[in-house]
Amino acid sequence: MSSGSSEVSEAQGLKVVDAFDLDDELRAILKPGDMIRDGQGRRHRLPRYFYEIPSHEAALGTRLSAHFGINEFMLSDLKEAQRLQQYPRYVPCAIRILAFYLEQYRTACGASVHIAVNGGYRSPSHKLSVNATPHMWGTAADVYRIGSTILKSKEAIEKYNDIAEDVSEEVKVLPYGHATGKNADDHVHVDLGYITLIPREISEDRMEQPQESRPRFAFEDRRRKERRSAEAEPEQD
Ligand SMILES: [Zn+2]
Repeated sequence: MSSGSSEVSEAQGLKVVDAFDLDDELRAILKPGDMIRDGQGRRHRLPRYFYEIPSHEAALGTRLSAHFGINEFMLSDLKEAQRLQQYPRYVPCAIRILAFYLEQYRTACGASVHIAVNGGYRSPSHKLSVNATPHMWGTAADVYRIGSTILKSKEAIEKYNDIAEDVSEEVKVLPYGHATGKNADDHVHVDLGYITLIPREISEDRMEQPQESRPRFAFEDRRRKERRSAEAEPEQD
């Protein structure tokens, strides 16, 4: 028998978790189901279902498509929440849809597509996360290199933006010059919008559970109890 770590498994082998079942700290970081505004003030609901990646070996050994491993979407810098830099780690389930589209993009480019560090999934608690971006849904990728072309020039970025847009109507790119700051204009941003995936492992009757009435964090639970006891006292008088 071969050892598990040397095998390349598919995403189907990953455990799906409902982020509402995770511990308080992870829920506070991942903010499942929270509404968050984009740069135009439109509100979007953050994803709730994640793949749980148990170890570095699993990250390296799990393919989402023929040429994309899940680890490529999880490379994070130190601005990511510290807890999300430790295993087990969590990536929204829609990541596999992104990988599917990137695979089409790779074919259209006729060359390998390389995702930047922090260019895949970024949590809503990442220090650079201000407004909603599809990166928080696992449905965006920042590509810094295609084949041997480093994407730094206006010409290269516009060329590969055009190819991305031709892949499908779902694919959106950002124009050259969209980025501000020191990392400006060094990547092609490809996104599919705010897709949340409900994995088939999930039973949708759980969706009916009103999250608003469910204490989401221990401190909220405590406050509820305090309120209840405060309300109960006058009745005893
Ligand atoms: Zn981006």
